Amino acid sequence: MRVLLYYKYVPIDDPESYKDEHLKFCKDLGLLGRIIVAPEGINGTVSGTYEQTQIYMDHLKADPRFEDIVFKIDEVEEHAFKKMFVRHKKELVTWRFEDDVDPNQLSGKRLSPKEFYEALQDEDVIVIDGRNDYEYEIGHFRGAIRPDVKASRDFPKWVRENISQFKDKKVLTYCTGGIRCEKFSGFLLQEGFEDVSQLDGGIVTYGKDDEVQGKLWDGKLYVFDERISVPVNRTEEDVVIATCYYCGKTEDRYVNCANPECNKQHVCCTECEVKHKRSCSKECLDHPRNRYETEQKEQQTV
Ligand SMILES: [Zn+2]
Ligand SMILES: [Zn+2]
Repeated sequence: MRVLLYYKYVPIDDPESYKDEHLKFCKDLGLLGRIIVAPEGINGTVSGTYEQTQIYMDHLKADPRFEDIVFKIDEVEEHAFKKMFVRHKKELVTWRFEDDVDPNQLSGKRLSPKEFYEALQDEDVIVIDGRNDYEYEIGHFRGAIRPDVKASRDFPKWVRENISQFKDKKVLTYCTGGIRCEKFSGFLLQEGFEDVSQLDGGIVTYGKDDEVQGKLWDGKLYVFDERISVPVNRTEEDVVIATCYYCGKTEDRYVNCANPECNKQHVCCTECEVKHKRSCSKECLDHPRNRYETEQKEQQTV
């Protein structure tokens, strides 16, 4: 099995009908995952067998709009998704900038993993994590500023209130697969930041680079699929930087609250998961729809 992660900013004239065709193609092929289609392009992550993912990549690349699209490929044991979604949205990433950024016109300098690794070691550099706070919590580049945001659309306000004093500094941004930095780095330039660079291909590409091997990354990489997190740094001992929500022990696994009406992701060690029935609060533990016990029974019968 493989997981593909990809995006491309390129005009799609009729995203609604493209979405319908694309969903049918993916379903017929047997892929699972989540794809967003917008007038500005495509962004997806899907899982399938070697053959299915190969056919999918060939299919996309046969379309002149996507012929140079880059796929990041992860080998996995099983599907990383439960369903297949293709959605039509206004934007690939919901930034809602007052002045939208076209990353094909305005974007930070693209650094390869090796260039980024070297830039990280500059004394004067400011490293801004382009992801949300809960992603930062379980892993980030050493010394990166933690953005106090729950969603991409919170960034403009956060930038203006917290990091505008760094406009004359050399700024580095990074995100999971590179898509968020495409516009985020352009936004920073628009805001008056003078020297902005982005990690080309994101953390996923950085972790796969044979030369840097994920160096200077601490913790795990949060991913938006069933795996929840994956390793990045292949050189040092696994550094765990988050702590269990219950006992405070260093831990880097996120779990979803067993109350389906809450579903809150929290960092939880295996012992506390059993002890608290994977619930984030007493209310959730006592909730009539708490699914922990049912899941345990289901797993025993499989
Ligand atoms: Zn614990
Ligand atoms: Zn809960």
